[in-house]
Amino acid sequence: MTIACLVDDDPVSLEALTFGARLGDVEAVVFGAIEVDGYVAHARRVVHERLDEYAPEAWAQAIVELAPDIVLAPGTDRGHEVLAHAAARLGVPLAANVVEAEADGDALRLTRQRWGGSLLEEATLTGTPKLLTVAAHAVEARPAGMATTVEDFTPTLGDEHFVVRVTRREEPTSGAVRLDTARVVVGGGRGVGSTEGFELLEELADLLGGAVGGSRVVTNLGWRPHSDQVGQTGARIAPDLYIACGISGAIQHIVGCRAAKRILVINKDQSAPIVARADWAVIGDLHEIVPAIVAELRKEGV
Ligand code: FAD
Repeated sequence: MTIACLVDDDPVSLEALTFGARLGDVEAVVFGAIEVDGYVAHARRVVHERLDEYAPEAWAQAIVELAPDIVLAPGTDRGHEVLAHAAARLGVPLAANVVEAEADGDALRLTRQRWGGSLLEEATLTGTPKLLTVAAHAVEARPAGMATTVEDFTPTLGDEHFVVRVTRREEPTSGAVRLDTARVVVGGGRGVGSTEGFELLEELADLLGGAVGGSRVVTNLGWRPHSDQVGQTGARIAPDLYIACGISGAIQHIVGCRAAKRILVINKDQSAPIVARADWAVIGDLHEIVPAIVAELRKEGV
């Protein structure tokens, strides 16, 4: 049985590799510059003169050409998109957002997230090949410690594989720390009140070396770009600390931040649903509490 795992520059890929290693010997199929040393014994770096940018059908073609029995990919937008293309081409199902997988004869018994992670489904995947994406933050990325040999692999690509491709990039407007990998995230919701209100949250995030995130309300209102959105239709984050300011805690928001190790809530309503998810809650006006935290951190020389 051959197992391959799609790896790209998103660190969630390394979680998928760690997950795949539980099923057997995994080969990493690497797009981009990410290093997989120590995670797998063998890796193929996909190289092609036209593959300087993301092109989902071309990535899917590489997977189809390698023809493994099991294909894993990270549960990211790209991972889902590429395997959906591969599944359509191969005429097989795709099991998305898997959190557990176990071999059962020729089949795979899976547990996967449904409805934005609000319920878990047990499923059996049969047939060949078996395609699955691994839910972001379902496991911690952990190298297995082996020596990794890397060889280049050039798929056969034509114009039909570049119908969808990246043509332009825009750098995020917010700070340098990436939201999806930040150790501290300061999240703001409707309670922040305005675009300017986020300056306060940025100050706190800067002091803590973290990133700013937001609820869908704040991205819908144009206070923050969509790239800052946390939740079902935004980023899934797993920081050590999530500071949720003026966010009520709708389930669609919680699915994006439930992997946080600790949650500090600042909300003026003690019955807001997010308070029940908090490790600590400060009940009061964030416009008083956040400046007080910032002042205290500055006093401590942070
Ligand atoms: P509200 O629910 O209005 O909450 C505001 C909170 O701020 C309240 O708890 C209030 O007590 C508090 N507050 C107000 N003023 C202050 C103050 N001065 N100090 C302290 N606290 C204060 N939402 C997401 O976040 N992410 C998603 O990805 C997402 N995807 C969705 C997908 C679908 C299909 C649907 C239907 C919805 C989705 N939503 C998502 C929207 C979600 O249902 C909620 O509407 C949204 O999360 C609410 O945002 P909020 O908490 O900022 O606002």
